[in-house]
Amino acid sequence: MRYEDFYRQSVERPEQFWAEQARRIHWETPPAKILEESTPFRRWFVGGTTNLCHNAVDRHLAERGEQLALVAVSTETGITRELSYRELHREVNTFAAVLAALGVGRGDRVVIYLPNVAEAVFAMLACARIGAIHSVVFGGFAAHNLALRIDDAEPRLLVCADAGMRGGKVIPYKPLVDAALAEAKSPPPQVLIVDRGLDPQMTRVAGRDLDYAELRRAHEGEQVPVAWLESNEPSYLLYTSGTTGKPKGIQRDVGGYAVAMAMSIRCIFDVAPGQVMFSTSDVGWAVGHSYNVYGPLIGGATSLLYEGLPTHPDPGIWWQLCERYGVRTMFSSPTGIRVLKKQDAGWLKKYDLSELKWLFLAGEPLDEPTAHWITEGLGVPVIDNYWQTETGWPAITLMPGLDLKPVKFGSPGLPAPGYRMKVIDETTGGEAAPGQKGVLVFEPPLPPGCLSTVWRDDARYVSSYFSHFREPVYSSLDWAIRDADGYVTILGRTDDVINVAGHRLGTREIEESVSTHPAVAEAAVVGVKDELKGQVPVVFATLKQGVGEAPKQVAQGMQQRVVQQLGALARPARVYVVNALPKTRSGKLLRRSLQALCQQADPGDLSTLDDPGALDEVRRALERGPDLGA
Ligand code: ATP
Ligand code: MG
Repeated sequence: MRYEDFYRQSVERPEQFWAEQARRIHWETPPAKILEESTPFRRWFVGGTTNLCHNAVDRHLAERGEQLALVAVSTETGITRELSYRELHREVNTFAAVLAALGVGRGDRVVIYLPNVAEAVFAMLACARIGAIHSVVFGGFAAHNLALRIDDAEPRLLVCADAGMRGGKVIPYKPLVDAALAEAKSPPPQVLIVDRGLDPQMTRVAGRDLDYAELRRAHEGEQVPVAWLESNEPSYLLYTSGTTGKPKGIQRDVGGYAVAMAMSIRCIFDVAPGQVMFSTSDVGWAVGHSYNVYGPLIGGATSLLYEGLPTHPDPGIWWQLCERYGVRTMFSSPTGIRVLKKQDAGWLKKYDLSELKWLFLAGEPLDEPTAHWITEGLGVPVIDNYWQTETGWPAITLMPGLDLKPVKFGSPGLPAPGYRMKVIDETTGGEAAPGQKGVLVFEPPLPPGCLSTVWRDDARYVSSYFSHFREPVYSSLDWAIRDADGYVTILGRTDDVINVAGHRLGTREIEESVSTHPAVAEAAVVGVKDELKGQVPVVFATLKQGVGEAPKQVAQGMQQRVVQQLGALARPARVYVVNALPKTRSGKLLRRSLQALCQQADPGDLSTLDDPGALDEVRRALERGPDLGA
């Protein structure tokens, strides 16, 4: 089917469209009503009962029990695990039996704090099986972040590992868990430890800490019946990255999410049953939930899960895995590709990638030079993919599973099915004309799969997302521009906009321009207070390895490009060449903290910062003075 027809049906007759899509999954009881709206809330597939675990595992046993369901590769431990759907079914049932034995039941929360290992998938699916609500917290988060999430979710149980590993180094998790539980106001009574044998120093609290291997032996082979849940019961919670503030507990439903996964894995990601999807995301992120776990498994595909760095043992590791498992669709992030871009492009050509059809990238703006580098290097279409933790699946994308519209570099493409998108002019509140900048909004109802609310905080759901304009539209809080063909380009977050002498510039536009300099690996642009102009753009950039030019020369080159491409107004007032840029654990640039440091202000909550060294690097650069501009 053509994208245009598919999309038009989805927005003109949403109930009919989604009723049809709902046939992709198993319903124990069919929905009585497809959509029930009380804007800004809405309920999909009302009265229908289903189960995510049943759709992801049990349903495939008859037809594809012996097919690989999950491949978990760790280049950190050197362990690869390959599980068929039958083996996955067995492991998930065992895990579910352990949860049930520990008293976890329907509606209880379980916080999962595990690295990218197979047990994370077992734990999530086991929760889904019994109707418990999982809340996966990215394993790299520090104790304080974990404590905040524990207090918000109030879990019955916490599942953790003894340790994770990164670049060959063991990172103990258990001490972080202990610290988080000491800090938390509502710590769970029990902790279930997946002991990987990585941290011999790990200590246990008697009566609280339990060993998964021991309980697994006691419950191995037990069958746990699936809990049939009403479509709108909560399936899981996932906290946003916290790039702009306090994380929100995004709550997902059951039926709507299952349908969104079944449709998107096929029509967007072009993965059919029996084919292989490789997402490099951590299970702790939205992409990990949807396209490492639920999407591919609901779709009867094989999911490849990876623990390790993209450059370890060498920068060819991802492509080697693509060759070995015949990966069809790969999903990664611009940050991941920029890491590889610092290395020799020859690694992209070393392996047989004839099975690889598409590379999707999401999470941050994909700058054109990076897009070109990877597209040419791999020789497959690279599809920029815009979404948020809130949406749970792409909101702006191209859909090669239907028909691939032309890729336009710099744009993630067109609205995904069910998203009624508008770009709104902030001052007039009216729709921006093609080519005009504005705020990206979605008109209700949000399609299936998007958040149902903020956990236990309906008021925050309304105030965070639906109260920015006169009409009750969902504000993405991202700034965008739509061209005459309907392609959307994201210009940055609404709070990242720079106001230079009354003109509004998206940081993204300047970053994009700076990145066209061949020596630049990555750039962050922030608006810094200026007495004359209100704000001026300041550039921080890392350079590619082995650049011959002096930093000052590169900085001049960057400035020239901005002036040529965007005009003198956008001219960066200062350029700092640094060795690292501060990012969140999810690879998002912390522009807010950069801006604060430039203005000698408090850099704010740094608990999601990935590498504290990067911030020191910026502090030193600020002390030293810019490479260009005084
Ligand atoms: P918080 O909402 O807590 O501040 P966050 O917005 O960083 O955190 P996520 O939901 O992980 O948390 O990130 C979604 C955001 O990432 C989008 O709103 C957008 O700003 C950015 N983003 C994601 N994909 C793209 C893309 N393809 N192009 C440009 N920006 C993107
Ligand atoms: Mg956000």
